[in-house]
Amino acid sequence: MMERRHKVKDSISSKLKSLEPYIFHQIAQAKKEALSSGVDLIDLGAGNPDLIPTEKLIESLREEALNPENHRHPVYEGIPELKAKIAEWFFQRFKVKLDPEYEILILGGAKEGLSLAPLAFLNPDDYALVPDPAYPVYKRSVILAGGKVETFPLVKENNWLPDLKKIKPKSKTKMIFLNYPNNPTGAIAPLDFFKKLVDFAHSNDIIICQDMAYSEITYDGLKSHSLMEIDNAKETSLEFYSFSKTYSLTGWRLGFVAGNKELINALTQVKVTYSSGVFHPVQRAGITALELSQEDLSDLIKTYQERRDILVKGLKKLGWDAEFPKGAIFVWAKMPKPSDSLPLCLGLIKKNGVIATPGTGLGKQGENYLRFSLTSSVDRIEEALRRIKGIKF
Ligand code: PMP
Repeated sequence: MMERRHKVKDSISSKLKSLEPYIFHQIAQAKKEALSSGVDLIDLGAGNPDLIPTEKLIESLREEALNPENHRHPVYEGIPELKAKIAEWFFQRFKVKLDPEYEILILGGAKEGLSLAPLAFLNPDDYALVPDPAYPVYKRSVILAGGKVETFPLVKENNWLPDLKKIKPKSKTKMIFLNYPNNPTGAIAPLDFFKKLVDFAHSNDIIICQDMAYSEITYDGLKSHSLMEIDNAKETSLEFYSFSKTYSLTGWRLGFVAGNKELINALTQVKVTYSSGVFHPVQRAGITALELSQEDLSDLIKTYQERRDILVKGLKKLGWDAEFPKGAIFVWAKMPKPSDSLPLCLGLIKKNGVIATPGTGLGKQGENYLRFSLTSSVDRIEEALRRIKGIKF
């Protein structure tokens, strides 16, 4: 008798099958292969800081981990002490008052909140507006939530801001994702743009999800603005913050979302289903982080800015079209000659030992672009530039 076998491959959901490969996973695979064949790699790929957290944060984590109470199930929405500290920090930073109980939710990194938001707000076939290029998580999580993606381009001529006059939302459009300081372009958004954005959201009944993962990483003395500085923004918006880059804590998984009470409540309902709270010692270290002085942070900015300057100047010398990013930790660079960015990147890893992110992995607008992250030392960036010089287009 023929044995009947379940074709497991057919069980994968069509939503999951419709996703393009996750670019950072694809590059991580290529990295693994290159490492195993002994290539000396310079990693300018994922936004994964090579800097180490300040001793004060490690001390705080260690101390809190010694308290047996801290090993129990964490509270879902975050400990009140951290939420209160965030409200205090937010007021000092943006002069905006938040109610810590209802207008802040602690997250296991900004990614957790950004990826769960479509589940909270989209009905089947509702649309979300997503920038191109962008962090791929927005698009993927909309698709996995059963929604549809409508992209809008970010172009240099418009300072990498969306041209809101050109965006005509379909009737079932529920949300728009934005990210300033921007990954990958390094743009920051002026307050008058946020004002127009909030008007756009109100007149189209759209929720704004603004990703502030790089809120504190800005250069040349510039500062990022919060959307919440606009009067009626809180009525329709959420803003997602991260401790990952500001404090070099990517592995600790800590972030928060601030904004509208009802939207935060909806997101909390999704969060309690999909994940748990953040490990309390990490949350307590988050309090210590927010108490650090500006001097504690300025070294980190100085380090990234020095790397940025060397990388951008070096790429320009080699004929690439690159701007000095105003914020975030990436250089978005157009190749000297058009070339398909994924095979170019895979070759760059294998043959030249430099990891970068293919522009097309971040959207169609990334055609002929590579994204270099500022996550290696000046010496290694200089070496990477020598290797990039050897690319044959
Ligand atoms: N948003 C953007 C634009 C990012 O680049 C990243 C990390 N690469 C995240 C969110 C994720 O941040 P977190 O580590 O806080 O989850």
